[in-house]
Amino acid sequence: MSFFSGLQCHLCGTKFPGEALFVCDQCLGPLEATYDYDGVKQALTREAIAARPENLWRYRELLPVEGAPQTGLNSGFTPLVKADRLAREVGLERLYLKDDSVNHPSLSYKDRVVSVAATRAVELGFRVFGCASTGNLGNSVSAHAARVGLECYVFIPNTLEPGKVLGTAIADAHVIAIDGTYDDVNRLCTQMADRNGWAFANINLRSYYAEGAKTLAFEVAEQLGWTLPQHLVSPVAGGTLLPRIGRGFRELREIGLVDDEMPKIHAAQAAGCAPVVRALNEGLEFPEPVKPDTIAKSIAIGNPADGFQVLETVRATGGAGAMVSDEQIVEAIKLLARTEGIFTEPAGGTTLAATLALVEDGVIPRDESVVVAITGNGYKTADAVSDRLTTPVQLGRSLKEFEAYLASRPTEAARKVPVKRGAGL
Ligand SMILES: *Cc1c(COP(=O)(O)O)cnc(C)c1O
Ligand SMILES: [Zn+2]
Repeated sequence: MSFFSGLQCHLCGTKFPGEALFVCDQCLGPLEATYDYDGVKQALTREAIAARPENLWRYRELLPVEGAPQTGLNSGFTPLVKADRLAREVGLERLYLKDDSVNHPSLSYKDRVVSVAATRAVELGFRVFGCASTGNLGNSVSAHAARVGLECYVFIPNTLEPGKVLGTAIADAHVIAIDGTYDDVNRLCTQMADRNGWAFANINLRSYYAEGAKTLAFEVAEQLGWTLPQHLVSPVAGGTLLPRIGRGFRELREIGLVDDEMPKIHAAQAAGCAPVVRALNEGLEFPEPVKPDTIAKSIAIGNPADGFQVLETVRATGGAGAMVSDEQIVEAIKLLARTEGIFTEPAGGTTLAATLALVEDGVIPRDESVVVAITGNGYKTADAVSDRLTTPVQLGRSLKEFEAYLASRPTEAARKVPVKRGAGL
């Protein structure tokens, strides 16, 4: 049963039907989904949720679809990793990683938003599904389009990493590389969406797409035993994810699934593309557009569509922003892999590095609980770190050669100490 009741302008409150609409014709504000929260409260209990499959549709009463999910039946419900070794290294007591680098099927947080947008595209009768993308969105849109059998068009800037382009092309999408920035690509797609009658996940279906991002917050709360962390650090690109994490936590409080105070939600950006963090630091009401220049390409959006809502959420929750250099991003990618064995892309490095900066600055006290959103997978962007790693040691095939090598190394493994097993027994 669906409790989705249509769209409403985030700014002036005007109501709209649940169609492929995304801006208010009265004030140009963004449209967002509304629900019958009394009905949701009755249906969406902890017990009902616990009995459902571990995917993002377990919270379907708070998602803007009318019928059965069409895709995403294995998406979401990613691990919430208690990162004790990383926590010790950076001097935090309780640190968790929400690991969307292993989201199914395209290995980023985008499988949340696209599962919902693709389902709604089918419900609204579209035949073509597309997007303007910095890489991960294209990967996810082409994967889910393949599953639901829609023709797919993905528009990208012509400077993306080869791994990201390949991940879209493999599912046979039409990949159109534009000579310009993401912001140029997005403008082109906005002109095109209505004209062609196509569903663009992050443009005319944006009101539906954005709702999928709330599931990250729902899962964090459930995985923490229906409690909330004190801090959550989110990367910001177009500004979909961060405000919907806030909205997700607020909805859980509203329907009585959690009682805790709202977490402080912090924004992470690369210094080479930090319109939101600059606006926070300078007290601006809207972000000033910038021209991106950073290795964190998946979050290199100079003119974030939902920038205003990011500022609103960060300020309302008492959060802050932090921007970090490309050097800090690479170091954080390596730190995460070295301590927790998780390989993330530069967006994840950005979020972790920003978390460390917020801890250093005392914005995040060391004894408070923190969730860091790791949103993408490092295997797609290997070039970002490949020249920064030690290369394999080259040896012949004799044992002697290996022992000579080992003897030349002052490492733990080189010392011939017999390992005691079951000591004390
Ligand atoms: C898209 C994306 C984000 C966040 O994007 P928003 O547009 O702000 O929701 C973060 N990390 C990765 C890896 C992404 O692909
Ligand atoms: Zn309006």
